[in-house]
Amino acid sequence: EVKTQGRHGYCFYAPEMSQRTVASQRIENVLRHALAHGELSLQYQPKVDARLGHIVGAEALLRLQVDGKDLFVPDQFIPVAEDTGLIVSIGTWVLREACQQARRWQRDGRPIPVSVNVSPLQFQYAGFYERLDSIINETGLDPNLLELELTERTMMSGGDGTIRLLRRIRQRGVRLSLDDFGTGYSSLSYLKHFPVDALKIDRAFVRDITQDAETAAITSAIIAMARSLNKDVIAEGVETEVQSAFLREAGCSQMQGFLFGAPMPAALLEERLTLQASATAST
Ligand code: C2E
Ligand code: MG
Ligand code: MG
Ligand code: MG
Repeated sequence: EVKTQGRHGYCFYAPEMSQRTVASQRIENVLRHALAHGELSLQYQPKVDARLGHIVGAEALLRLQVDGKDLFVPDQFIPVAEDTGLIVSIGTWVLREACQQARRWQRDGRPIPVSVNVSPLQFQYAGFYERLDSIINETGLDPNLLELELTERTMMSGGDGTIRLLRRIRQRGVRLSLDDFGTGYSSLSYLKHFPVDALKIDRAFVRDITQDAETAAITSAIIAMARSLNKDVIAEGVETEVQSAFLREAGCSQMQGFLFGAPMPAALLEERLTLQASATAST
């Protein structure tokens, strides 16, 4: 659509807008194709114990790869999946795939909790609970080994209905965590209303704690507050020893970041777990 504006009779926003539409149209096509042809995959990023450094969990992260190369990264394709509604079927695929993997690890004697990101639309979609419940039943996974990561945006969006749904999921034995904490509405006082087990401190805080005294103070306060509410605190995006030391001192229970391991294929995470088990056995 071409709009005219002012006496020059053109609009310089139009090309950019149509450009964006073309890009997201292409991503949508790639996503549909990938979903239909089994070209989606998951990688797993370790979560480590802040004191001992060993792996205590893993986050499943969606990949859209051909021959091991990313066609698009999640920050490009997740928004398109959300806009087009594709996130509902993609999200179901992710949940099932992650539960099957977690079940294999459970069966192999390496029970490791796996967390799955859930988008607002997917969560609000009627039948989310029933689908979750049937995937757990179908895979035979111990629900305690599953965690859902939701953002404040999701938790704030549905009023009382959302809180009830969150409670129901927790009653089923599934853990809940609040992802990207500090980037959304971020009122600390809301924290007591959300029935979550854990809180993930966003990477943006972690990045700045060593440069900016105020960020450091706020981060420490968030950790202290979460702990007094009996919630686990996980720091995201930990890249340096200095950040890690600060967060550990401040009382973070778990950490995640390139310092401990980037997202990796399931087989690689398995190798890490095997190494860890033999290191523990020999001490
Ligand atoms: P998120 O859930 O907050 O995931 C953390 C992101 O930070 C991941 O990016 C991860 O690869 C990246 N990361 C981890 N450690 C570091 C670090 O030390 N430094 C830096 N710079 N980055 C680090 P990724 O995999 O590209 O995913 C981006 C976002 O896309 C996720 O943020 C999540 O919101 C969304 N996403 C990914 N997979 C899924 C999915 O299956 N479903 C839904 N709904 N969203 C997903
Ligand atoms: Mg996450
Ligand atoms: Mg996050
Ligand atoms: Mg994020």
